[in-house]
Amino acid sequence: MLRIGFIGWRGMVGSVLLGRMQEEHDFKGFEPIFFTTSNVNGKGPDVGLDIPPLRNAFDIQLLSSMDIILTCQGGDYTNKVCPELRKQGWRGYWIDSASALRMKDDTIIVLDPVNRTVIDAGLSSGIKTYVGGNCTVSLMLMALSGLFASGHIEWISSMTYQSASGAGAKHMKELIAQMTILGDASRRLLDDPASTAIAIDEVVTRELRSNAFPVENFSAPLAGSLIPWIDSAMESGQTREEWKGSAETNKILQTKKPIPVDGLCVRVGAMRCHSQGLTIKLDTDIPLDEVSEMIEKGNQWVKVIPNDKESTLKFLTPAAVNSTLTIPVGRLRKMLFGPEYLAAFTVGDQLLWGAAEPIRRILNIIISYLS
Ligand code: NAP
Repeated sequence: MLRIGFIGWRGMVGSVLLGRMQEEHDFKGFEPIFFTTSNVNGKGPDVGLDIPPLRNAFDIQLLSSMDIILTCQGGDYTNKVCPELRKQGWRGYWIDSASALRMKDDTIIVLDPVNRTVIDAGLSSGIKTYVGGNCTVSLMLMALSGLFASGHIEWISSMTYQSASGAGAKHMKELIAQMTILGDASRRLLDDPASTAIAIDEVVTRELRSNAFPVENFSAPLAGSLIPWIDSAMESGQTREEWKGSAETNKILQTKKPIPVDGLCVRVGAMRCHSQGLTIKLDTDIPLDEVSEMIEKGNQWVKVIPNDKESTLKFLTPAAVNSTLTIPVGRLRKMLFGPEYLAAFTVGDQLLWGAAEPIRRILNIIISYLS
């Protein structure tokens, strides 16, 4: 029976992954071993099986006895443990949600509804490292897989509206703490029917600029504001998050002629779900109904939303998409720049299709391949 080690299962991506695996009854036909970096011998997760106490996630000898290791622990763990295991001759499969190994030559970035042929070719040629893509890149590819498959995309500009949870659990809590402070400070004025919105705004702005406002994680107010910078700086003037757009898209699709993807990545006060405003340059004028049909046929999760206010408010917001696998694409129209220019807006749950779901699915693909 295959021995599969799980590391990072209690974090945000890991717990969404375990939830999805249980929903899909994935915990069968293999022996799961749960590891920890912080609570050796502690109690493992409840996955409906008898689970032995947690094992040490730095025990290289024990890890070497796994056929597959699946980690959602983060890049520092990956950088420390994976090379050590490989150095000792471990030939098992390494599945990861962190970006650390994504751009290595012997790594496949996994998003099987979009690049199943690339994954199958990787398995046949003996590749052993499979890593989930950047969340906004995976969500954009899920949204536009049908249009990419048509071969008519010349370039894409993606302006993102990324949620707090993309930065981790502490950031999510900080956003709510910021919102609570703003709500508490303005409560008296809100309760007074005679108060003006300008008076409330003065109170809110004073709080946002106060040294006591909690910004330890985001380094700036997010509630009542936004942050147009995600990740570290690159020499190109892009942030690393923006750089990933082109680099990962073209690696996932294994394009022969790279398709440029660029834009600005912005953190907004959404809790969960990343949104993107897209400008798509086609190589020819394709009627909008044909574009719509190509997008809708891309995969079973994508859904074209009519370009009207009622449908947009009902189906095309983080509040509507949160905790679902649906990838809505709406606000679809031709732009004033010319008939080859399309506008579109898409939303996706970055903890599902942006992180846990491609990892869950590659685990099943590898298990089937090995059996
Ligand atoms: P996370 O929530 O911070 O969890 C990572 C690890 O932190 C856990 O496995 C756990 O390890 C430890 N931890 C310490 N205190 C914790 C607490 N109070 N609650 C839960 N866990 C705690 O990280 P994540 O957001 O899941 O991200 C994991 C990796 O996936 C990162 O490389 C990230 O870049 C990548 N990723 C994240 C997203 C996203 O939307 N968040 C999307 C795509 C990729 P122990 O149990 O061993 O202590």
